[in-house]
Order: sequence, then C-alpha cells, then structure tokens
Amino acid sequence: MPKTILHWFRRDLRLTDNTALHHATKAAEQVVPVYVLSDWKSSHGWTGPNRQQFLCGNLESLAKNLDTLGSRLIVRCGKADAELERLVRETQAGAIYFNRDYDPFGREMEKKIAALCTRLGIECHGFDDSVMHAPETVLTGSAMPYRVYTPYSKNWLSLDKAAPLPRVTSLGPKAAEQVTSLPLPTLAHWKLPEPTAQIVAPGERAARDRMKRFIESGLILRYGADRNIPAGQTTSMLSQDLRYGLLGIRELMQRCQQAAEAAPAAGKASVLTYIKELAWREFYFAILWFYPEVFEHEFNPDWRGLPWPGTEAAFQRWATGTTGFPIVDAGMRQLLQTGLMHNRLRMITAMFLTKDLHCDWRMGEAFFMQQLVDGENASNNGGWQWSAGTGADAAPYFRIQNPWLQSARFDPEGIFIKKWVPELQNVPAAVLHEPPKPGLPLAKGYPLPMVDHHTERDRCLAIFAKHKEERR
Ligand SMILES: Cc1cc2nc3c(=O)[nH]c(=O)nc-3n(C[C@H](O)[C@H](O)[C@H](O)COP(=O)(O)OP(=O)(O)OC[C@H]3O[C@@H](n4cnc5c(N)ncnc54)[C@H](O)[C@@H]3O)c2cc1C
Repeated sequence: MPKTILHWFRRDLRLTDNTALHHATKAAEQVVPVYVLSDWKSSHGWTGPNRQQFLCGNLESLAKNLDTLGSRLIVRCGKADAELERLVRETQAGAIYFNRDYDPFGREMEKKIAALCTRLGIECHGFDDSVMHAPETVLTGSAMPYRVYTPYSKNWLSLDKAAPLPRVTSLGPKAAEQVTSLPLPTLAHWKLPEPTAQIVAPGERAARDRMKRFIESGLILRYGADRNIPAGQTTSMLSQDLRYGLLGIRELMQRCQQAAEAAPAAGKASVLTYIKELAWREFYFAILWFYPEVFEHEFNPDWRGLPWPGTEAAFQRWATGTTGFPIVDAGMRQLLQTGLMHNRLRMITAMFLTKDLHCDWRMGEAFFMQQLVDGENASNNGGWQWSAGTGADAAPYFRIQNPWLQSARFDPEGIFIKKWVPELQNVPAAVLHEPPKPGLPLAKGYPLPMVDHHTERDRCLAIFAKHKEERR
C-alpha cells in the first residue's frame, strides 16, 4: 500500500461522491490533491471568460473545503504529465489516482499518465465517476456501440445504478511546505477579460443547493410537462455542475429515484423523463468516445463535405442576437448575458444558424463553447450535429423547425422574449410569433427579420438534396 497518493482533480471538483478521491483516501496515509492549470493565453477557440470564471470559483471553493479537512490543494500549471511527474518526485507518491475524462483530450492525457506511472514504477488508477455507465459498458447485443439514442437509453436504464459514495472526511497530513503551489487562478492567469455575463454561483455547496431546490421544491415532478417552456425555471439548471463534477452523478440519480418513489404516477413519469435526459448526456459521451472524428466531421458520413454557404456577416447577426427573429434573439441574448441557454432555445438557435442562415455547424459549436458555462464537448457537439441534421439522430435532415411556430408554441405570452429583448417589451404577444409586414419593424430599434424562413428552408433542402444526389 503506497504511503502517499496523488489525487489529480480534473472534472470532479468536489469531496462528496468522488470515486477516485474516496478510494485514494482508503488506500494511503496521505492523499495530495492537485489541480493542473492549462497554460494557454489570451484566446482559446473552445472556452472563454464565462467558463474559466466558473472554474476559478470552483477551485476556490474546493481549496476551502480541502483546507477545512486540514489538507491543501496544490495548483500547478502546464502539461499534466510533466507536472504530475514533478510532484511524484517531490512527494515520493506511490500512485496517481484520477477520475476518467471520456473526451479525446482527456483520454490522450490518461494514456500519458499511465505510461508515466509505468516508467516511474508507481501505481496508476483511473475510475469511472462522471457517468452512471462508462461508454464501453453500454453496448448492443453484438457488443457494438449504439448509433441511435432510443435503444441506447433502454439499455442504459436497465442497468443497475451504483449508490453514491460518502463525503471524504480526511486526506491525511497536508503536503510538506516545500511542495509549492501556485496561487488559485484568476482570469488574469489566461490573460482573459472579466466576463460580461452574470454567471451562476460556483462551488460544491451552490451546486448542492440547486439540486435540492429542483428536487425538494417539486420542480422535478413538473419537469415532464414544463421542460420545454423557457420562461421561469422549468429545468434543473445543473448542467454546469455535472460538467465540473460539483455534483456526483450517483447522488443525483439516487435523489431522483427517491423523489420518484414518493411521487404519484404523473410525478414518477416526470422523474423518468428527467433521468432520460441524464442518459442523453451519457449517450453523447459514448458517441464521442467511439467516434472521436465527430469533432471534425459530420457523424453521418452521408453529409461529409456538405457545403455551408452562410456568410460571416450573417453569423455575426446571429451571434449578437440581432436577427430580427424574436425567439432566436432572446435565446442568444440569454446566452450572452448568463453564459447559459435553455435547451429548447439551443435547438432553435442552432437550427436557425444552420438551416436558415446555412452557416457551418462548427462555427456555432465553437461559439457556444466560448460562451457556455456548461460547455461540454460531447453534449455540445451532439446538440449541434443533431440540430444541423448531420448527427446521431433517427430523424431525417428535412425536419426543419420553424422559429415562428416554435416561439408561438413554447413562449405564447412572449414572457421569455420580452425578458431578453427589451425593445419588444410593449409589443403585443400575438405579433411576436409571425413575420412583420415588409418594411415595418416590430418595434423601434429592433431589426426586420434578416431572412424569410420559408425561402431559406427550401434553399436548405435543395443543398442537402443536391449533395445527396452528387454522392450517389
Ligand atoms: C446545440 C446544443 C448545444 C448544447 N450544448 C451543451 C453543452 O455544451 N453542455 C451541456 O451540458 N449540454 C448541452 N446541451 C444540452 C442541453 O441543452 C443542456 O444540457 C441543458 O439545456 C442544460 O440545462 P439543465 O441543466 O437545466 O437541463 P435539464 O433539462 O434539467 O437536464 C438535466 C441534465 O441532463 C443533461 N442533458 C439534458 N439535455 C441534454 C441533451 N440534449 N444532451 C446532453 N445532455 C443533456 C444535462 O446534463 C442536464 O443538466 C446542448 C444542446 C444543444 C441543442
């Protein structure tokens, strides 16, 4: 049994229900907790101030929680393998423990850490933690990965669900003083500006409060009926907490199961709808695990090489929430102002960018990653490819949502629209859901719709059909 173990924190920034940390504390006298910061500067295609600010807050909270246990978070910066090697030498650790990260970058680094441990002659333990079921454990009858959600979810739901692990109460003596740590990061570490968005509160405690609110206030029992309504809180708002592992998935699952047990039939069905969303998350992890090429290419090979003739100017109007489509602009402004967006709006805005403006889904995918506090490679890629009609989806490409009808259906009173697009405050709800008369803007200072949905829908279908024809 090693005397000292390094616990490498990654996307598991909590002390409760943390698989690797729990096992590390059982296996050594001393656990040295470490977080390795990335060393890029100024600009990054896949993140931005909102998510980095949330990360900073999460690390601060984690460091405080470790402090109360008499431990000390060691912060380093650089490539994880090089930094962990240095720390192994400094602490004489006999093992590195971590929770697995299923995306290609995490996976690549895990291979390097495993090789490092072999070279140093120490133990290496990677645990499944951020999902109920690791990608390799949910396979078809012929041991193949699923390509479609419904059969995947049936299998996923049928598997036994592990119980949560207790909160860690001691990591043993803190690392010696000569083991140095960088200060906790601020945005200045990456040379990033302060976020303009008002982001949710970081840390394990805040995440737990959000979970309690969703479950104990009964929101979860109305989720099945209300989840597509973007006004007010109708969903759990836990995606950023799952993204950074502020909550253990086993604990969340157990709370859901308890809520279902105590609920009448309709409530039980609602909880199941919620649990199926957690399965979507793991489905996309599995897609990225088995098909990492989706980062570059369309999941459905039929659509690889499809042209996306949308312009940069059109993209900019979408990105700034000034398309003249109230529901689209409301969603984009919610994103810009909070770093989050309701799922229904993510679908509407993503479909609008790809099907009405014909911009490459990869442009939207990257923009979302730069803005989202919950930016998750797998779910974001999956959501974008689903919306673009190129993804792991049983529905065909010609399912194109009409933004005017979506808005009438899910925001009939215009409550969501008016919250995020104040120019439309005094416009009667009924007229928010149809194109205004030519040349007559809905309100002073609000743009006319930048395109005609029906025309662009036909254009989109023609682009897809032509590509299909050419590939025959
Ligand atoms: C274009 C597009 C991009 C997206 N990008 C992301 C992203 O970067 N990060 C992210 O976590 N989710 C993403 N989603 C999925 C979904 O929009 C968010 O998970 C959800 O809006 C988060 O709010 P919530 O926690 O209140 O969700 P709830 O409705 O309460 O759902 C509970 C949890 O289930 C998971 N979940 C729900 N819906 C989905 C879904 N469609 N796909 C995968 N997981 C899901 C999330 O972890 C979520 O927290 C994206 C969807 C689309 C269409």
